[in-house]
Amino acid sequence: MTTQKRPIYLDCHATTPVDPQVMAAMLPFFTEQFGNPASSAHAYGWEAEAAVQRSREILAAGINATPEEIVFTSGATEANNLAIKGVAEAYFSRGRHIVTVQTEHSAVLDPCRYLETLGFEVTYLPVQPDGLIDLAELERSLRADTVLVSVMAANNEIGVLQPLAEIGRRCRDRGILFHTDAAQAIGKIELDVQTQGIDLMSVTAHKVYGPKGIGALYVRRRHPRVNLAPQLHGGGHERGRRSGTLYTPQIVGFGEALHLAWTNQEGEQSRLKELRDRLWQSLQTLPGVELNGHATQRLTNNLNVSIAEVDGQALLLALRTVVALSSGSACSSASTAPSHVLKALGREDDLAYASLRFGLGRFTTAAEMDQVAHHCRATILALRQSGRPVTTVH
Ligand SMILES: *Cc1c(COP(=O)(O)O)cnc(C)c1O
Repeated sequence: MTTQKRPIYLDCHATTPVDPQVMAAMLPFFTEQFGNPASSAHAYGWEAEAAVQRSREILAAGINATPEEIVFTSGATEANNLAIKGVAEAYFSRGRHIVTVQTEHSAVLDPCRYLETLGFEVTYLPVQPDGLIDLAELERSLRADTVLVSVMAANNEIGVLQPLAEIGRRCRDRGILFHTDAAQAIGKIELDVQTQGIDLMSVTAHKVYGPKGIGALYVRRRHPRVNLAPQLHGGGHERGRRSGTLYTPQIVGFGEALHLAWTNQEGEQSRLKELRDRLWQSLQTLPGVELNGHATQRLTNNLNVSIAEVDGQALLLALRTVVALSSGSACSSASTAPSHVLKALGREDDLAYASLRFGLGRFTTAAEMDQVAHHCRATILALRQSGRPVTTVH
């Protein structure tokens, strides 16, 4: 590990390193400025509260919300759980139907499945072959007893961007709440809770060069005011919506990470797009390499490809000393099932297994991209030539 050169990191949809500037901003809050933001009787509490408030304001301003609408959580998983279960519980006398999408993250799908066991009804919308939902199909799924629509902003496997404003408008017209999981989107694409009609939004720090273990849920307070049943009861922090002592250093890091990402969002996105397109152009020249997800409606740092006539497992094994990336089935690498996202696009099992997810990031260089492209091409050709059977072992 120490003497060997580490592989090139292209797994930025899984997590990103903490930016050194973020780290520097956090450090004083572990030691000198260690106060509890809820301690209103002395200076230790005040300075911690001021730091928390600064992050709250940065996040709120960046998504066109107000600071009171931000609830800090331990990450996007908790934010999704709070949004979905919190709304379901608060509105259950009005309706028990929820609409979501088959390609959502498990942190959305699993709370929905859990609610089904309690008697809620959930519609899991399919996606088109490009990964986008069909808005007409969404409209048809909406019922008088639908209380919540949850559609992610950017997909964590294929990077596809769903049409938030169009979804928001359709929900608003019918008085249905709209939640979006924006864990992959924040700091990368424009998010505006007003123009996009978003009522609840989950975000997390560790996908934008902030620390792990901190995220937030935006909860609309006006037009309409969203009611939320808290899922963690205790000291009544975050206006009673999420109890637990605020994690000041992580919150400070989150604010700093967002500030950094938003300061140079446009320049960084075009840099990443150029690098990503270069990789795709190189891989595309091989026969049997197909793009997963919409060609342009996607995150600029994402490339997801399926590769015909190679064994998926063998391909990952052959690549991993040079490049750190995930197979299509990403988040739950422990599971050997083919990716539910690629299956929803209509990919056959073999192609779904033999897929690679490239996630570029702030520290990815052009030289690294060229090296990865070269190594991937050579590996694919070598595996095809070796004539390994295409059956998948797992
Ligand atoms: C990473 C991710 C999550 C989980 O976020 P955590 O902060 O790790 O809990 C949820 N949804 C999406 C789309 C993600 O990419």
